[in-house]
Parts: sequence; structure tokens; C-alpha cells
Amino acid sequence: MRAVTIAPRTPGSLRLDDIPAPRPAPGQLLVQALAVGVCGTDRELIDGHYGEAPPGEKRLVLGHESLGRVLEAPAQSAFAAGDLVVGIVRHPDPVPCANCAAGEWDMCRNGLYTERGIKQAHGFCSDFFTIENSMAVKVEKSLGLAAVLLEPASILAKAWEHIERIGKRARWEPRRVLVTGAGPVGLMAALMGMQRGLEVHVQDHNETGPKPALVRELGAKYFSAETEGGYDIIIECSGAPAIIRKVLGFETPNLIVCLTGLSPAPSDVKLELAPWNQAMVLNNQVVFGTVNANRRHYRQAAEALARAGKAWLERLITRKIRLREKWQQAYEKVRGDVKTVILLED
Ligand SMILES: [Zn+2]
Repeated sequence: MRAVTIAPRTPGSLRLDDIPAPRPAPGQLLVQALAVGVCGTDRELIDGHYGEAPPGEKRLVLGHESLGRVLEAPAQSAFAAGDLVVGIVRHPDPVPCANCAAGEWDMCRNGLYTERGIKQAHGFCSDFFTIENSMAVKVEKSLGLAAVLLEPASILAKAWEHIERIGKRARWEPRRVLVTGAGPVGLMAALMGMQRGLEVHVQDHNETGPKPALVRELGAKYFSAETEGGYDIIIECSGAPAIIRKVLGFETPNLIVCLTGLSPAPSDVKLELAPWNQAMVLNNQVVFGTVNANRRHYRQAAEALARAGKAWLERLITRKIRLREKWQQAYEKVRGDVKTVILLED
């Protein structure tokens, strides 16, 4: 079968391979891959910044944003042939740590977890893949290709869950939300804010292209000017150091800032610590980072996508590239692009 692979930590090693199709072990599903989403993590893996092949292997199958159709399922599982599924990316560490033991592998304490398509486990960008039925999430068939957005959506489902847990430290009536960055992550953050009945503002440097319209169709406000304060919640999705410094300087009481974006390093943007500390202390502020998601967040995300509906979600997929065509183009960065998807089924 076809598989997109890299030799981890070796720039320029990306290629389309022919590898044996997997056979499901007991308790595993055999899945036909339909589509795989591409994100910055894939480009960093291709550039050799990180990544690990499975033990004893030299190459890693890429692809962590998946969508597939079940071909074979164990008799006792909740799945049947024909179901649409998405694979959970992170798998618990073998120790396991207290969090992994409780199914909270997104909060793993020892770093020994594995991640499909990233760390010590093959990804989903191959014609077929196998997955433990406990690590697959069923998605509504009516969503079709849009269900490939479930993995990025799960990151934001976790972010919102944690924001709400922090908010409940006191009486909390949030009203205004700022999302910085209108990529797939920012758009999911905005969608879930609207679904909570909040007033959502999205800031992004793009003044043209699909992003302003996608935000406005949600009923949220879009702007590209510099941000000002007055928000109860800020979800930072750009990773841009100058924007992060700006949102950390607001003096709004009880402000919760959630950081989801990774900044490119090195950066010459410096943070003046004393005024930041004063704003934090005197306003009961919380700044926290978030990464990854567990099974509960995938389920929350599946509900959010089902509520959002197929039409809006499909418009986030701005490029579809077939694996049998010029598949390498899927990994190129294209201005104005929101989400690129590789289609595996012909
Ligand atoms: Zn762990």
C-alpha cells in the first residue's frame, strides 16, 4: 500500500513509499484511510526538527489528522464496517503515569507517551491503518470529509474545557472573547465560543482571502487592527511573539489567557516582567498553555462539529490534493490557505 513517510530528523527525506498493509491485532480496527489533514507539525517533521520512528524502524508514516472508514471491527466493539472514524493521536505512556492511567494522556507527566505520525508510532497517511478500538472516535457520516477537522477541533475542545474549569474558581460570567489568529485552530476556537453564546472577536493579519468571511458567517467579529483590552477570555492561536506580549499586557480583572500556538524560535521580542507580574497579580489573571487532547475532548469536538454543520466546516478545507497526484504540494505553505487535506481514496 502507499504511505507518505519520512526518516525522522533527516530534512528532505519525505517520500511516497510502498509498504505492507497492516493486519489488525485482537481489539484493533482495520481502517481504510479517506483523508489526512496537514498542519505545521507535519512541516516541522519534514524539516527534521523532531519526530521518532517506531522502535526498530528507520522511517515514520506521517499524518496525525485522520479520517477513515472501518473495514473490519472486533465483534465486541462499538464499531461496525462502514463507520467513519478518526484516530486519537496520543497514546498513554507504558508506565503509566497517574494521568495516563486515568485516561488523561494529554496531561502525561513523564513524556513517555507515543503519538501517531509524530513520536514512535506510525501515522495515518497510508491506504490502510490499524488502531485499537479504544483509540478510535466515531464521527457522523453526514459530516463527510469535514470530519477530518476533528483532531484540530479536539485541541480546542480541551482548551475550552480548561478555560471553564479555571473560570469556576470564583463567580464567573464571561462575555467577550478574543481569538488571535484565524487558522484552523483559531476558527475552531471561535466556533466553540459562539456555540457557548459568547461575543467572539477574531484578530488576524489577513484582510483578504477566506478567513474574514468564515469568521463573519459564524456571527463573530473579524479585525486586523491591533488588539485592545476588555476581554474576559483570550485564546491565542497565532504563536506570534509580538501578539503574545500584547495580550499578556492587558489589565482586565480575572482575565484568562489560553496559549495554543507555538512561537518560532529564536525571537527578539522581549517581555518586561515587572509590569506583567503586576497585571497578573492585581487582576487575578491566569495564563496557561494547552496541547493535545484525550478521548473526552474528541467526543466534545465531535459534538461541536455536528452542531456546526457540514457547509461551514467544508469551507475551512481550502485545498484538497489527491495522493495519486502532486501530493508533495500538500506540504507547501500557501498564502491564504486555511486547511489542506490529502485525499487517499480515488
Ligand atoms: Zn503519562
